[in-house]
Amino acid sequence: MTIPREGTNLDPWYELYADRTAGLSASEVRALFAVASRPEVVSLAGGMPFVSALPLERVTTSMERVMREQGSRALQYGSGQGTPELREHILEIMALEGVRAGVDDVVVTTGSQQALDLIAKLFLDSGDVVLAESPSYVGAMGIFRSYQAEVSHVAMDDDGIIPQALVERIASMRAQGRAIKFLYLIPNFHNPAGVTLSWERRLEIIEIARREGILIVEDNPYGLLWFDRPAPHAMRSVETEGIVYLGSFSKTLAPGFRIGWALAPHGIREKLVLAAESAILSPSVANELIVSDYLASTDWKGQIDTYRGLYRDRRDAMIDALEHYLPDLHWTMPNGGFYIWVTLPDGLDSKGMLPRAVKELVAYTPGTAFFADGSGRANLRLSYCYPSPAEIREGIRRLAGVVRGEQEL
Ligand code: PMP
Repeated sequence: MTIPREGTNLDPWYELYADRTAGLSASEVRALFAVASRPEVVSLAGGMPFVSALPLERVTTSMERVMREQGSRALQYGSGQGTPELREHILEIMALEGVRAGVDDVVVTTGSQQALDLIAKLFLDSGDVVLAESPSYVGAMGIFRSYQAEVSHVAMDDDGIIPQALVERIASMRAQGRAIKFLYLIPNFHNPAGVTLSWERRLEIIEIARREGILIVEDNPYGLLWFDRPAPHAMRSVETEGIVYLGSFSKTLAPGFRIGWALAPHGIREKLVLAAESAILSPSVANELIVSDYLASTDWKGQIDTYRGLYRDRRDAMIDALEHYLPDLHWTMPNGGFYIWVTLPDGLDSKGMLPRAVKELVAYTPGTAFFADGSGRANLRLSYCYPSPAEIREGIRRLAGVVRGEQEL
């Protein structure tokens, strides 16, 4: 066997990779983030939930009980669609956001990330278009790119995606003969923009999607983590046939279980189950049973309240610090979730500034990560979910020093 050696890459298999792997490039800021994980750096970059707030002894009890009472089931392969008892719990959780469905409509996935991958696999051919907010979730865009689709951004403001901008984007894409496969939205406490799509706009967007025959993928991992008032009901509460709804236990419980779900209309759901079985045979039955036991035996709504209070305090700490140290910047005001989207003063470049920020022991995510077209240099995403309020304040103080330094250059 000859090992191909052409190409610019040192990897000897470089020439053999499928075309779709061109989308699998490591982010340029990855190396910096490795540095940023040192303890002396205040990282406002990642989106890690503060899982230490979980009652670990309760989780341990559930793990022990599952293994003692249902060990042979927990350790066996299971249904590709997920266990019925977990799907029942998922219905209860979605009902909090106005969603009504049957257990058969739900597909349990390995995090909502896998649900996104399966949807992309079902719908996207090379050259297809996915419409997404501007900015959008970096992890979803990476998936869409890996199926060789193009993300076309639609403008948003403090009330979420702008309906008129959507209408115009659909028209311009279709005028170019492009195939729009779906509209990917994060209506609640957007990652990275921090904003929430208003109820009026939800209805307008649904109306446009119905009229234009466009499927909506409603990605809602943060909806229950509201601060001052609950988020509007899910779009899926008023539209059942035209929406694939995605949920996750990652933010309301813990990402380590890797359990999310998709709620899809009948035809799509059947294909999702087949695609899931082909990818992973079944989700982890052990984790499904542990999460079910935890939900059945714990005040999980109270636990979500604890998370909400904790993240609200951190949001407040970050907003206070921004007002104190960087009053001339513009930022969004999240009413839930993990993120604030900051706009830098004219002429500053968030990507160019990052090495200096890391040197000053603070990290953030440059806005460019959240656009498919390289824009976003004037923006950055700050996460308040993981550091303590004191660390957040110190991080923003350091960031202000970096911004001032850049302005003086
Ligand atoms: N969608 C959005 C908007 C997210 O922010 C995340 C996690 N950062 C995910 C999906 C994936 O979450 P998980 O796979 O942990 O459910």
